[in-house]
Amino acid sequence: MKFDWTKTGHRMHKQGMALGTLLASTLLAIHPAQAGSVSRIEASGSKITISFDDLVEGASAFSLLGPDRIAIDVQGGKAGQGGYAAGIVKAVRQGQYDPNTARIVFDLDRPAVITEGRFSADGKSLQLNLQPVGQGQIANGRQSFLPPMNFRAEPPRKSYSVKMPLGKPRDSVNLPKIYGPSDTSRPLVVIDAGHGGHDPGTVSPHGGKYEKNVVLALARAIRDRLVAGGRVRVALTRDSDEFLVLEERYGIARRLNADLFISLHADAAGNEDASGATVYTLSEVASDREAAKLAARENKANIINGINLGGATRDVSSILIDLTQRETMNVSADFAKLLHREGSRQMAFRKIPHRFASFVVLKAPDTPSVLFEAGYLTNKDDVAFLNSGDGRSRVATGVASAIESHFARKLAMR
Ligand code: ZN
Repeated sequence: MKFDWTKTGHRMHKQGMALGTLLASTLLAIHPAQAGSVSRIEASGSKITISFDDLVEGASAFSLLGPDRIAIDVQGGKAGQGGYAAGIVKAVRQGQYDPNTARIVFDLDRPAVITEGRFSADGKSLQLNLQPVGQGQIANGRQSFLPPMNFRAEPPRKSYSVKMPLGKPRDSVNLPKIYGPSDTSRPLVVIDAGHGGHDPGTVSPHGGKYEKNVVLALARAIRDRLVAGGRVRVALTRDSDEFLVLEERYGIARRLNADLFISLHADAAGNEDASGATVYTLSEVASDREAAKLAARENKANIINGINLGGATRDVSSILIDLTQRETMNVSADFAKLLHREGSRQMAFRKIPHRFASFVVLKAPDTPSVLFEAGYLTNKDDVAFLNSGDGRSRVATGVASAIESHFARKLAMR
């Protein structure tokens, strides 16, 4: 299915980002001049109508997967409360994203895209048409909608526009290839190489190695080792230099119904002596200040120039840890111990090898997940180890045997 967002005539209601384009252009507002409040949101069937009590500058939309959502940012808008959900929309939430932007999030009962968005002639309501699509057809990027010129709120006095690359262009967020046995009853592990595209992660002071490349090479080595073992199925969230927001990473694991999710990273410290690997699992309360700082740094992958590409991070972090998630957290912690046990036969770990913090990428409520910091890119020896064939194969052996033991143990407990 093709949607006609790529044609931009003059004075179109839809401008800006086209499907799968390389650039996102973002207006950063400094002083809101005037603002219309969101007075009513109504969803019915595949239509959504957002009404304002005064003029707004414009709106833009982007999609999020797993759970499926569409977020609308209203520039020059003040958030109201709630909204009426029906049809494809399960729930409506709204909040003030920044002083000049109201954000409205629609929880969907299936993946959908906006096929048309149009402001009314008086600029005081925005109507959106939704259409359900396959998950692979959800595109990255924003769609923009502008009210007619005469009925547009004065833009903020000071505003500027920035353009930045959002990783490689892609037409859709496709589910990755699954490697290993074709028997779908075999457990599936998703390996997530952190960062990518415009986000290099940590840059090593020793030889300028990028974290995004180091961890991708490790992810591939682990995949190959698991495929050779023939016991489990494996998929990578990314197998190239592309950028994914954190929610997309665990979203892929959830959509594939994965049994285990491992996010791979390499650490940085001001003290170049710091070395060794650490396994992190999710906790709302960080085990120490350093773990909290690391989580804050890794969670920043979603934020560029103040714009949170992950969108719903604040919602996600406020999800109460329910019983399912508690169970998931226990399994994750068991796996973390196993990863230390098997991994330390191959490589060095830190004194406290298992720590806790609030990493967005670990927030899938139903997929046991760990974040593995394989070593320090600020440490000379770690850099040499992680970038050597021998080092990679040791990491791969350690991680793969932890994965295989984990599933063997689960099988034995059945
Ligand atoms: Zn990282």
